[in-house]
Amino acid sequence: MIKKIFYKTVYKCRDCGSTSYQSVIERADNGALLPTGQYRCTGCRCIFATVRAWWSPGARPDFQSSRSFN
Ligand SMILES: [Zn+2]
Repeated sequence: MIKKIFYKTVYKCRDCGSTSYQSVIERADNGALLPTGQYRCTGCRCIFATVRAWWSPGARPDFQSSRSFN
């Protein structure tokens, strides 16, 4: 059984406008279900490496900010 975890946010997907996403969970070699650290939009199903990349249209790897989702 894969337990789907949805996160509601105040942000919106830059592509489809969905306001929720879920963690990407994949089965490891030993059978355990582990989060890959990536996120999937529940609207357009696109996978993003970070929450910021999901909502920020101008996200860049070197973008500097004091805010953190961790
Ligand atoms: Zn989307």
